[in-house]
Amino acid sequence: MHNHCPLQSFVILGGGTAGWMSAALLGRILKGSGATVTLIESPDISTVGVGEATVPSFVDFLQILDIPLADFMRETNATFKLGIKFSEWHSQGHRYWHPFGNIGARIDAQPFFQQWLKCTHNGEAGAYTDYGPSAAMAREGKFYIPDPKRPNNLSRMGYALHFDAGLAAEYLKRYAATYNVRHLVSTVEHVSHTPDGDISELRLNDHPPVSGEFFLDCSGQRALLIEKALKVQYLPWEAFLPVNAAAVVQSEPGETLPPYTEAIAHEAGWRWRIPLQTRTGNGYVFCDRYCSEDKARQALLAALAEPALAEPRIIRFATGKRQKMWHRNCLAVGLSGGFLEPLESTGLYLIMRAILNFVELMPNRVESGATRREYNRLMDIEYENIRDFIVMHYCTSTRQDSPFWRDWQARAIPDSLKAKLALYRNQGRLVRNDLDLFAEDSWYAVLTGMGVLPEDYDRRVDASDYATVRTMLANVDRSLRHSTAQLRSHRQYLQELLNL
Ligand SMILES: Cc1cc2nc3c(=O)[nH]c(=O)nc-3n(C[C@H](O)[C@H](O)[C@H](O)COP(=O)(O)OP(=O)(O)OC[C@H]3O[C@@H](n4cnc5c(N)ncnc54)[C@H](O)[C@@H]3O)c2cc1C
Repeated sequence: MHNHCPLQSFVILGGGTAGWMSAALLGRILKGSGATVTLIESPDISTVGVGEATVPSFVDFLQILDIPLADFMRETNATFKLGIKFSEWHSQGHRYWHPFGNIGARIDAQPFFQQWLKCTHNGEAGAYTDYGPSAAMAREGKFYIPDPKRPNNLSRMGYALHFDAGLAAEYLKRYAATYNVRHLVSTVEHVSHTPDGDISELRLNDHPPVSGEFFLDCSGQRALLIEKALKVQYLPWEAFLPVNAAAVVQSEPGETLPPYTEAIAHEAGWRWRIPLQTRTGNGYVFCDRYCSEDKARQALLAALAEPALAEPRIIRFATGKRQKMWHRNCLAVGLSGGFLEPLESTGLYLIMRAILNFVELMPNRVESGATRREYNRLMDIEYENIRDFIVMHYCTSTRQDSPFWRDWQARAIPDSLKAKLALYRNQGRLVRNDLDLFAEDSWYAVLTGMGVLPEDYDRRVDASDYATVRTMLANVDRSLRHSTAQLRSHRQYLQELLNL
């Protein structure tokens, strides 16, 4: 066998969430290998400072890092998230849930969704998400993580976290330090190349240059390495997802502590509400063709349920992704690689995927390009899946009350989404897609929540006794309500877990 040496020095540019998540994982994975990891962050260029709602994979990420959940939550002002409550999306006054976890269980070996669909066609079922534990708990403001050794009817719930992005970065910084990640606070002013075009070293304004074999560009929207140095293009997806800015502000905490994110549709976009232990995060995501920055600030402040803690600030963004996430000896992670608006809280998931896929495909010194191509293929699929899922929330709306919503009726949607919707509309089937972050129940929750029902159901469910199925559905709903009623509130659960 040839001596295909492993890479020995990794340099991460950027100390936002992407930089510190990458440093934490690389530091841990490379422990004992002799490889060095250096993270450089500028004292003058701030981080984006948002990114507070997550999907359940973030809890898996903490497990991979062996970080105790309660410790992380105590240090980051965190709360639990059972899903998202969508208001005003289908039409004004309308609400639905996108809960995590599973909904129902197969009946007579047929998918629960199909059994539910037949009952719904007969007008004899509640909302699809009424049959899942996470929505049942969220509705009541309750929370509980079932003991895997003692399964019950709430066992198939799913949960994620809300937390303070700044405190999370601080936590991961301390964690990375225990794995000998070298930390430099300095600004990169120049990027040097090898004769064949790879990145060789970063020159800093007040520190000797830092050289490395492999570079992770976590420099945020500046994309200093992947774009400025290596000229990899950004593919804009504004035609599919037109929102391009957010007004953001924190407010006093609410009286209750909802175990879910809220996403409320507005005249020119939508508004989020993310409850933390001691404050609430708020943002109005809008498209500047339909709403000025001032109007967005005013609309956000007018909608707050509690007093704002500061003046709203505006963050601009361009929806899209890098043509290649990995080019030469540089990987784009976080906002430098792309951004899909925060409707389904997927930013940190994509960071986690970017770095986990990299670790799984860790190159050696003679990597020929095949590894890079496979990595880029996998990341393209991740971005496209999430893009389709987000577009689906908008294109199924029936709102006609403002130019923003009226224009959605005529907007082109990706061909891949067109195909998914056509298959679903026929008999409620979904395109098989093992790499989709959003499992079948997520698609069903949002599609049925938006009032999109298939024309027919899968006729194989006719083999089941209909009266029995109908009774089973009613029992699932009743038993979920009963079990949820016994639980403590989200706030009480947190206080006990975190010893507050
Ligand atoms: C409005 C909005 C809402 C969002 N909401 C969510 C959400 O709810 N959930 C979610 O998962 N994601 C969300 N995201 C995405 C999430 O915020 C980002 O994916 C995440 O914060 C990663 O940012 P980053 O680390 O790539 O960039 P940044 O936070 O911008 O960090 C960039 C870093 O690079 C450094 N840097 C830049 N240039 C230089 C230089 N020349 N020299 C040295 N250092 C340099 C900076 O100092 C900084 O440390 C949201 C994003 C936006 C815009």
